[in-house]
Amino acid sequence: MTRFTMKRLLIALSAAAILLMGGCVQQQMQKQALESNVVVLDIGHYYHPERGGQGARTPDARYGVIEETDFWYRYAGYVKKVVQDAGYQCIICNRGSMPTKAELAEAARKNEVVHVNTPVPTGIYRSRHHPNRMAVGMLSADFALDQRPGAVIFLHHNSNAAKWLVYNKGAFYCNERGVRLANTMAEVMNRDILDHGMPNNGVPCGVVLRNNGRQGGGDWLNTCNESYVPAVITEVSFLSNPEHAKYLSKHANAIQFAEAIGRGIVEYMKKR
Ligand SMILES: [Zn+2]
Repeated sequence: MTRFTMKRLLIALSAAAILLMGGCVQQQMQKQALESNVVVLDIGHYYHPERGGQGARTPDARYGVIEETDFWYRYAGYVKKVVQDAGYQCIICNRGSMPTKAELAEAARKNEVVHVNTPVPTGIYRSRHHPNRMAVGMLSADFALDQRPGAVIFLHHNSNAAKWLVYNKGAFYCNERGVRLANTMAEVMNRDILDHGMPNNGVPCGVVLRNNGRQGGGDWLNTCNESYVPAVITEVSFLSNPEHAKYLSKHANAIQFAEAIGRGIVEYMKKR
């Protein structure tokens, strides 16, 4: 064997070893996500100390006043309870810092919300787990992956108009790993909430695969996908839809809605 062929052989062997190790790491990550009993809930957007919640909101007070971040500080605990009662560990996080509004701070403490304290909550951050992924709100997606979760749910509401407009085509946006999770969550939502309490003109909610990092939340889903973690963004209800606003602004209904999100997660976790 010449020195040249020897060198080539060594290069080929180390390349094979690297590929093999990479394959093992991938298998390990897949197994971990599949066997994990941890569910992370991310409260969407953040609470600004003076301006309040920074998510979507109802256009005016006619059919109730709701803002996404405020809503999920109040109700994420009901999702968590359903998940925990089924035997899974559930952790709630938010990209921002502790709300200054007393009621929300109390809810956050009660539900042990972990604040990631993003230095500039409106800034774009690169994922520590998958540095090719960048987005606003990425630090809480990173926190979620630090927990080695079996599922990550980004809690949001939608809004498609600055004025009131009846619009019904809500969806669960998901990554490739999360299609089954999103389908299960949609089944439960259609079965228990849409046109079963919350009027929706007979329109079922959809499931949309989102793997384009340039679209809202796309890279949160992508970074989870690259860790083999199913992830979903909940965009079922429209705060600009008077019917949805009327329904969700009632405390008992908001609990029903949150619990249906929780049941969707649990039904998926059980049948994985
Ligand atoms: Zn949102």
